[in-house]
Amino acid sequence: MGIRTAQQYKESLRDGRNVYISGEKVEDITQHRVLGVTVDTVAAGYEMTSSDNQEIREKLVAKHPETGEPINRFFITPQNSEQLFDRTRMIHLLIENTGGLPFGKDIGTDCLNAVMAVARQIGNKQYEENAKNFLEHLRKNDLHTCGAVSCVKGDRSKEPAMQKHPDYYLHVVDKNKDGIVVKGAKMHITSAPNANEIIVVPTRQMRENEADYAVSFAIPANTKGITFICRNGRGPWSDREFHPDRPVRELTEAMIVFDNVFVPWDRVFMCGEWQYSMLLAYTFATFHRFTAISYKIPSVEVMAGCAVAMAKYNGLEKVGHIRDKLANIAAYVETLRALTRASALEPVMHGDIAVPNPLVTNMAKLHFADNYHQFVKLIQDIGGGIVATCPDKRDWDNPDIHEYLEHYLGGSGKYSTMERLQMVHETMRHVCSHESAFHEVTTVHAEGSMAAQKMMILYESPLERYETRAKRAAGIIES
Ligand SMILES: Cc1cc2nc3c(=O)[nH]c(=O)nc-3n(C[C@H](O)[C@H](O)[C@H](O)COP(=O)(O)OP(=O)(O)OC[C@H]3O[C@@H](n4cnc5c(N)ncnc54)[C@H](O)[C@@H]3O)c2cc1C
Repeated sequence: MGIRTAQQYKESLRDGRNVYISGEKVEDITQHRVLGVTVDTVAAGYEMTSSDNQEIREKLVAKHPETGEPINRFFITPQNSEQLFDRTRMIHLLIENTGGLPFGKDIGTDCLNAVMAVARQIGNKQYEENAKNFLEHLRKNDLHTCGAVSCVKGDRSKEPAMQKHPDYYLHVVDKNKDGIVVKGAKMHITSAPNANEIIVVPTRQMRENEADYAVSFAIPANTKGITFICRNGRGPWSDREFHPDRPVRELTEAMIVFDNVFVPWDRVFMCGEWQYSMLLAYTFATFHRFTAISYKIPSVEVMAGCAVAMAKYNGLEKVGHIRDKLANIAAYVETLRALTRASALEPVMHGDIAVPNPLVTNMAKLHFADNYHQFVKLIQDIGGGIVATCPDKRDWDNPDIHEYLEHYLGGSGKYSTMERLQMVHETMRHVCSHESAFHEVTTVHAEGSMAAQKMMILYESPLERYETRAKRAAGIIES
C-alpha cells in the first residue's frame, strides 16, 4: 500500500478499540464530536501525502531505500543532518498546510529510531530484526503511531520496585514461548486514541531488580486488554468565535491502560536489559525533543505575529516600549529556530543513525519551556484588555448591538473593526483561553520537565573543561 488516503486511515480506526472520553465509551471515534476533530487533524496529514500536488508529495513522500516504493518520509531513519532537517521541514509544511500538527508518525518514529539505535548497542540481533520488520510494517501499511513512554509513576520519590504496588510503571508480568504479558499504564499519550500502533519505551533508568520494567515493544491499538481514557477537548468551532475558514485542528492525549496485554516476541524490542533502559529513554528524549522544538517554531511564529498585528491594529507599532517588547518576542522565536538548526547540523552518530545533538536539543527545549510564559505575557501586554473581554461573534451578528461594536471597537483607522476583532480572537486563542492554559502546562511538561532537560544539559556539557580553564586562569594549574 505505501501511501494511504485519509478515508483509508479513518476506516482503519473502526477496529473495535476500547476508547473512553468524559465517562462515555466511544464505539466509532471518527464520529465523536471531540475525537472526530482529532481524527480529521491526523487525516489532514494523509490528505497531504496522497494529494496530487507534486511539490507537497515530494517533500512528504520518499522512496523506500530498497524497493523504491513510495513511503511516508517520516519512515526514513535519519542518517545525516539533511535527513534531520527533512523532519523539521515536514513538520513545518504539515502545520502550515493543515493548521495543526497531524502528530504521530513523528513521535512514533522518534521511539523507533531510538529503539533501533539501542538494539544495536544491546547486541541482540532479534531485537534489531524485530525493529526493522516493524518499520517495514509501518512503511508498507502507512500506519499512524503514538509513542507511549511516560508511566503514571505513583510516588515520584520512589523507584519502580519501591512503589506501593508494582503497576505504577509498566512491566512484564508473564513470559512464555510465544511472547510476554505486560501490565501498567502510560499517561498523556498524544494522538493515542487515533493511532494504529502503540510503541512502548521505558520512561526512565531501571535497576537490576527492576529488569521486568525494562521493556519496549509495539502493539496494535485494538489489542485485547488495552483501554484509552482520553482528555476531553474543545471540539469544532462555535458560532461565538471569529475563526478562520479551515476546521479546528486539535489532538488529544490519553491514558493507556495495559491490563495483562499479550505481546508476541516478534514485537518486542527490549525485555529485561535494564542496563540499556536509560540509554533508550535518553535517546528517545533527544529525538523527541528535536521533534518538539521543530513543531514549536511555527506555533510561536503565529503567536509572535499576533503581537505584531495587535500593535498595528491598536496604532502602537512605532511606540518605543512596544518595539522593545517586539524585539524580545522576535529574539525568543529566532533563538529557538537557531538552536533547532544547530541541533540538526551537529548530530551524534549511533552507527549509521543520526541522533540530533543532545546538548543543543535540550538547550532549545529548555529555552522554549523556561521563557514561554514571559513570551505569552508580552503578547498579552501588547494585545490589551480586549484580549480578555472581547465581545463574541454572536454579539457582532446581532443587529441590535452590531453598530455599537462597529463604532466603538475600531483601532487604528487603517484597519476595519471586523479585522481587528478577528485578530483579537486569534490572540485570545493563544494567550487567554482554556487552550492557551493547556499549552502553558504542555510547554513545561510535554517532552519532559525542565529538570529533565537540565539533567541532560549537565551530562552533555564540558564542565571539566570549564573548570580547567578557570584553574589555569587563576594560576592553580599550569597553562
Ligand atoms: C500535552 C502533553 C502531551 C504529552 N505527550 C506525551 C506522549 O505523547 N508520550 C509520552 O510518553 N508522554 C507524553 N507526555 C508526558 C510528559 O513527557 C510528562 O508530562 C513529563 O515527562 C513530566 O512527567 P509528569 O507529568 O509525570 O510530571 P511529574 O513527574 O509529576 O513532574 C512534576 C515535577 O516533579 C519533578 N519530579 C518528578 N520526579 C522527580 C524526582 N524523582 N525527583 C525530583 N523531582 C522530580 C519534575 O521535574 C517536575 O518539576 C505529554 C505531556 C503533556 C502535558
